[in-house]
Formats: sequence, C-alpha cells, structure tokens
Amino acid sequence: MNSGSNLTPSAAGERRQYADPIVAAESDVDLLAGLLADAGRIVSFTGAGISTESGIPDYRGPGGVWSTGKPPTLDDFLTNEAARLEYWERRRTGYRQMAAVEPNGGHRALVELERSGRLLGTITQNIDGLHQKAGADPDRVVELHGTAHAVRCLSCGTVWPASEIQEWLERTTGEPRCQVCGGILRSATVLFGEAMPVEPLRRAIAFAQEADLMLVIGSSLVVQPAARLPLIAVRAGARLAMINRESTPLDRLADLVVRGDAGRTLATATGLALAWEPFRSYATG
Ligand code: NAD
Repeated sequence: MNSGSNLTPSAAGERRQYADPIVAAESDVDLLAGLLADAGRIVSFTGAGISTESGIPDYRGPGGVWSTGKPPTLDDFLTNEAARLEYWERRRTGYRQMAAVEPNGGHRALVELERSGRLLGTITQNIDGLHQKAGADPDRVVELHGTAHAVRCLSCGTVWPASEIQEWLERTTGEPRCQVCGGILRSATVLFGEAMPVEPLRRAIAFAQEADLMLVIGSSLVVQPAARLPLIAVRAGARLAMINRESTPLDRLADLVVRGDAGRTLATATGLALAWEPFRSYATG
C-alpha cells in the first residue's frame, strides 16, 4: 500500500520478481479455460502477484516491503516531517521506475476478456495502474487501495498527477507542497492505519454480487476487508477460481485452484476460452 517502489530487475535483466517460474498443469489450464468460456459476467480480483511478472515485487515475496522497509502511515504524513522527507526521497527515484513498468500477459488477457464482453470489471488491490496501462476501461477498474499515479493535498483535497509532482521532485530537494494552498501532500494510496475509502468498496461489492465467475489472481487474501470480496461473490452464487503461486485461506471454497504464474496461465486459458467461442455458439444453436 505504499507508493514508492523498489524494483529489482533480475540478473538476466528481465523484470520478473521470482527466479523460479511455476508452470501450471495443462489440465488445470484447460479447466480454467472452460470456466472462462462458460462465464458471461467475470469479475477479476487482482493482488500484487499479477504484477510480479512485470517486475514489481509483491508484498511478502523477494524484494517486497515486508523485507525492505516500513511504508509510511497516515500519522507519519500528518505529524512526522522526517518520515515525510524520507518518503519523498524514496519516491524521487522509485516513482520513475514504477511509471516505466509495462503490463504483462496477465493484465493483457483480462483486457481481451473485457473486449470480448465477458469481463464486467476488475477489483484490484494494486496501486500500479497496470490494468489501465494494458488497455482496461478505467471505469471498470476499482482500485481498492488507491493509486501511485496521483498525489493528494491533505488540506484542500486537490489531486495532482504524480508526473507533475515527480517533475518538481527531480528539479529540487525537500518536501513538495500543494501549489493551491501550501498544504501537506500525501500519496493517493490507502496508507497503513487508514480506513478503506467507502466508494471503491461499494463498487467492488456491487461487482462481486453481479459476478457469475470470480477470478482471484495473485492475492494472498490476507488483507481485510478486501479479502471478503470473493466470499461475497460465492454467497451471491458465483463460481470461484484462483491463480496463485501458493495456497490462500480461501482455496477450500474455490471451484478451481490453479497453482502457477498468473501471466502465462491466464494468457493461455483466455486464448483457449476465446478460441472455443465459435464452437460454443454453434453447439448451442
Ligand atoms: P501479497 O504480496 O500479500 O500476495 C501476493 C500473492 O501472489 C502471494 O500469495 C504470491 O504467492 C502470489 N504471487 C506472486 N507472484 C505471482 C505470480 N506471478 N503468479 C501468481 N501468483 C503470484 O499481495 P496482496 O494480496 O495484493 O496484498 C498486499 C498489499 O500490498 C495489497 O494491498 C497491495 O495494495 C499492496 N501492494 C501492491 C503492489 C502493486 O501495486 N503491484 C505491490 C506490492 C504490494
């Protein structure tokens, strides 16, 4: 939930975060393709794991903030000038790196599903903006934890594009201030110790209740209240499919758990599901 970044390209120069790829079993990819092909109102729920193949560390994996340092809290922004200065210092170099990151096959597969009319939308815990960068309709992306691509004034509420603040950061030193009222600026992400904003949560719940398939991709499902969304979808009658490198507390509720890397798995399953489309229309008359 912090908006600095600590990208660490691998020795090979590629930007994946885990050295060991996990290739999903072909039978699981086929089953996933079948679920995607059968669904008409897919909602994807994405976590940091969908972006590790683009080079952004997840939370608890290699290079993640769990091991690299404490992100700032709301209290830090409100009262702790030293913590703010440290935050902006990290962001001076970190934001440029994050802004340069490209979406991967997982983000692009979701865009294909959206364009095929099967995906209602994406609920994301991520702050990296990669769904929109891949071409997702921004109105169909709910960012539960805000975005790293904006900065907000704590006093007057003006929202600044992160690129404008970045220009300032690269021209000068110290802490940027709001150019409208001189107030303290903060990242437009949900910070530790801060309640989740109501409107994104309301939209996310509405998506979850409308879904006929909830597809959870790369989330450890331990951050609340976001992790309740798959439960809401299941209670409203949706099927549940998961793609993750490791198990999650909700695996037991899922119709299908695919153990594998999100990008390759989702790209292959989506390709298969969309290729079956003409045969399905023929079969159902
Ligand atoms: P998390 O780090 O707790 O869990 C990520 C999960 O994805 C893990 O279970 C991991 O095994 C799995 N994973 C990693 N790479 C994968 C891959 N290539 N394919 C499939 N699975 C993969 O992340 P979370 O559940 O999203 O919660 C952490 C919080 O940190 C979120 O609130 C999020 O806002 C924030 N965060 C965001 C970003 C980002 O915007 N990209 C990055 C780090 C943290």
